[in-house]
Amino acid sequence: MGILKRLFLPNQYVKDIHEIDFQQLEKLDIRGIITDLDNTLVGWDEANPTPKVEEWFKTIDERGFKVTVVSNNNEKRVKAFCKGLNVDYIFKAQKPRGKSLRKATRKMGLKKEQVVVIGDQMMTDVFGGNRSGLYTIMVVPVKNSDGLATKVNRLIERRILSHFKRKGYITWEES
Ligand SMILES: [Mg+2]
Repeated sequence: MGILKRLFLPNQYVKDIHEIDFQQLEKLDIRGIITDLDNTLVGWDEANPTPKVEEWFKTIDERGFKVTVVSNNNEKRVKAFCKGLNVDYIFKAQKPRGKSLRKATRKMGLKKEQVVVIGDQMMTDVFGGNRSGLYTIMVVPVKNSDGLATKVNRLIERRILSHFKRKGYITWEES
């Protein structure tokens, strides 16, 4: 099961983005953040960032991190969401393919060792980040998503997650 761990186990697993410890990331020499949008920053059906999410981006900026929103969703959705935040973004990213993650890393002027990928999906965000050699943080989805592809991914994800929990790789328990 070593390969499962290498490809699908996130470096960290947290309840939501607000639990992410920036000081710890700084200690790891991480200077850039690639974040997923749907169900990571807000629910998949929420058009705009909440005040709390805006605050999160402000903190990131104040701490001097570079940031890029990398989403598999379409231009309209991603552009509208990011407009008010004034952050770079990549839409139709085709995660888990690594191309968009490498592009975001390059545009931030960073090396892969300096970048974290944050996302709610093991099959796209974590898998994509891990195989591209980036640090990965998985969050619990803000809301359950409808999409069929996502449903299938979630099914596989739950099985791998429970395997990791049995092995003791993941200590945080979903309530
Ligand atoms: Mg997502």
